[in-house]
Amino acid sequence: MHPPLAADLATLPDLLETTRQQAAALLDGLADAPVVPARPAPEPRPLPERGTGLRDALEDFRARWQPGLSASAGPRYLGFVTGGVTPAALAGDWLTSTADQNSMSSLDATGAHLEGETVGWLRTLFGLSDAHEGALVSGATMSNTVGLAIAREWLGERRGVSPAEDGVAALGPVRVLSGAPHSSVAKGLSMLGLGRSALVTVPTLPDREAVDPAALERALQEADGPCVIVANAGTVNTVDFDDLPALAALRDRYGCWLHVDAAFGAFAALSPHHAHLANGLDLADSLCVDLHKWLNVPYDSAVQFTRRRDLQARVFQNAAAYLGPLGDTPDLVHLTPENSRRLRALPAWFTLRAYGRDGHRDIVERCADGARTLGEAVASLDGLRLLAPVRLNVVCFTLTDSPTAARLAALADALAAEVFLTPTVHAGVPALRAAFSNWRTTAEDVRRIVTALETTVRKLPTP
Ligand SMILES: *Cc1c(COP(=O)(O)O)cnc(C)c1O
Repeated sequence: MHPPLAADLATLPDLLETTRQQAAALLDGLADAPVVPARPAPEPRPLPERGTGLRDALEDFRARWQPGLSASAGPRYLGFVTGGVTPAALAGDWLTSTADQNSMSSLDATGAHLEGETVGWLRTLFGLSDAHEGALVSGATMSNTVGLAIAREWLGERRGVSPAEDGVAALGPVRVLSGAPHSSVAKGLSMLGLGRSALVTVPTLPDREAVDPAALERALQEADGPCVIVANAGTVNTVDFDDLPALAALRDRYGCWLHVDAAFGAFAALSPHHAHLANGLDLADSLCVDLHKWLNVPYDSAVQFTRRRDLQARVFQNAAAYLGPLGDTPDLVHLTPENSRRLRALPAWFTLRAYGRDGHRDIVERCADGARTLGEAVASLDGLRLLAPVRLNVVCFTLTDSPTAARLAALADALAAEVFLTPTVHAGVPALRAAFSNWRTTAEDVRRIVTALETTVRKLPTP
């Protein structure tokens, strides 16, 4: 064995202890480190021709790379929709790599069954019936893509062809209707060969990002033939929710597939005050929920639910003599884009096992409280205005005077050490978003953010 590798094996418990200490120091620093450090990335170095072992690698990472990492696991990183990592999820993630399972097949031990238990817990958490079966994928983009792949096969079934067997050309033109779809839907359609132009944007309700059901019905009448509806349960700018029961009724009347993108909006179901927003999730034919956002497990994790596992297996089956027959309960290798995959469910299993429904409800409610408090502060601050009511966990706001993209970028830059916000455009107006989805964010953090906003807006050069 290569001597440094042999030495690492001989001292593995010590090295793990050093790694643990480095991790603990990193976590300790999260609350006070600059949220996004202003420093250039290190110059890349050549491949080490001679390895010197883990201890040197740890030190090199700590010295050169770690200081430039954002505090995205910390309490004031409110860009995009970025969850943190609960202590139990972190333990689960460490053990995932430690056990290094390839949970694609039931030929190999119980990993796939642990994923089954986790999916069952998630189904209960979001109020889904047993008709929804699920599998874990790497993120909501992949969850949306898998949902759309099943929809594609369903359209084939309606037209007497199988796109999985015969290719998308056999399917003919496809229409995917949505009010304010996430960008990942277009990406998924591109990957699936359906094309970005298959996506038809349907008008939304006045001053809303929720689709107008009457406009959707007109689009369905014009479409002449089965369509795919992509419903949104939590849009990224204003966390607006489509009326899922109304859309499901249109699905039934016009014979469509209803995919619901509830990447983070599904978590409204955990909070009695907000559950009405996500009413009707169970009506979906396929459903996307991200786990690395509001469940607070590490990247990369999302769940994909569907009522038509048979069609899913038709798309993703990986028939091979050594894998055994598909059967009624296909192994994971036959259900998702990957073949080999880590035991991705373990961090989610750990956090649900450790904190349960009540613990995760508390995270959702504290995030919603933080967003509400910040929203109230923004509404009363001179120089800022809200662009939408705070429905759940996102505050979308802009400058009262000359809200240009450049001025908002200057504001975000000036804030970046204290709070990370990301730019957007809502209803044609450049804006910033603050998205709360990290379990670490406290009321004190929200006060710090409000103070930072007050002073920074006051100092922003007048246009
Ligand atoms: C984040 C998000 C996605 C994409 O998720 P990834 O995890 O980045 O792939 C899709 N839809 C919605 C509504 C989202 O918020």
